[in-house]
Amino acid sequence: MAITYLCRHCNTIVGRLEESQISEHQLGFSFLTPDERRDIIAYDPNGNINVKVTCEYCSEAIRNHPELALISNPLQ
Ligand SMILES: [Zn+2]
Repeated sequence: MAITYLCRHCNTIVGRLEESQISEHQLGFSFLTPDERRDIIAYDPNGNINVKVTCEYCSEAIRNHPELALISNPLQ
């Protein structure tokens, strides 16, 4: 099982973990609300996990231009 951290805004791969035995609890996912989990965590058909985060570049861009976050997340 691999865990890939992807930027939710630009799809850049921020990081990748290759772990065969790691639980959601160890990843800190158990602290998320169900809505947050649905929003952040995606399982692909191979059993790998994609975690959506915000990369440094996009964090910086959103800090400078908060309206960008609204464009990327039209439901929020
Ligand atoms: Zn990004």
